[in-house]
Amino acid sequence: MDLGVSGKVAVVMAGSRGLGRAVADSLATEGAHLVLCARGEASLESAAASFRDRGTEVVTVVADAADPHTPERLVEVAVHHFGSVDIAVANAGGPPPGRALELTEGQIADALQANLLASMRLVGAAVPHMRRRAWGRICCITSYTVVQAVPTLALSNLARTGLWAWVKTAAHDLAAEGSGITLNLVCPGRHATERMVALGGDGAGAGDPADFGKVVAFLCSSPAGFVNGAALVVDGGDTLAL
Ligand code: NAD
Repeated sequence: MDLGVSGKVAVVMAGSRGLGRAVADSLATEGAHLVLCARGEASLESAAASFRDRGTEVVTVVADAADPHTPERLVEVAVHHFGSVDIAVANAGGPPPGRALELTEGQIADALQANLLASMRLVGAAVPHMRRRAWGRICCITSYTVVQAVPTLALSNLARTGLWAWVKTAAHDLAAEGSGITLNLVCPGRHATERMVALGGDGAGAGDPADFGKVVAFLCSSPAGFVNGAALVVDGGDTLAL
């Protein structure tokens, strides 16, 4: 199947490792140009080098996704360097574990910055450019906690359900104006990344990040143009919430 993203420009936040990198990899394989951001220069440049070796044009930006200026900066870099932004993938590291009644205001503020506001900012920065070309694909990487709360991941439950509610309504508005832009949530279950190991997982029965990247690349494709305002759970059937 031709995904129709060859030559498109994709901004991928937190794209140096893990699921973000897998998404960037899939988009690069389909011929997209990349603007990648991560906080660590070494891992970002290593990811970029591996894409460039395969002929992908990549621009890197060392930045924290949770910094309020980062999303706009990434979009500006994409427009300056490539002339457009066609695909935007919002991603950031997950918040630390914690139970609902033990959270501090500082932890809540950090989680909202990284896992709610950063995504909203990327949408806000990218949409005006996508509107001009009447085409755009935006995916926000969240978690299965959007559909099934986890008692020990209260920060994730909080920030990501807020994002889901906002995405649902924003996607509706984008459709109503005939923008040609889709906005979806992708909700990973357990995948074998550093994040999973940090949370104590051993990788048994976990999903392959490369497959996850291909799912997101499909949502960013031309044929997925009628998939909008969806929350696609990619968890191998783990989650039982209906
Ligand atoms: P990861 O920690 O393995 O990788 C995250 C990548 O993003 C790393 O390259 C890291 O340097 C970068 N990053 C983290 N925070 C950043 C920030 N603030 N600014 C810029 N770059 C940043 O994580 P992952 O497993 O790839 O997960 C990606 C997202 O999916 C996270 O929000 C995570 O909570 C969520 N998630 C993952 C799983 C899983 O099993 N892997 C399951 C559910 C949800």
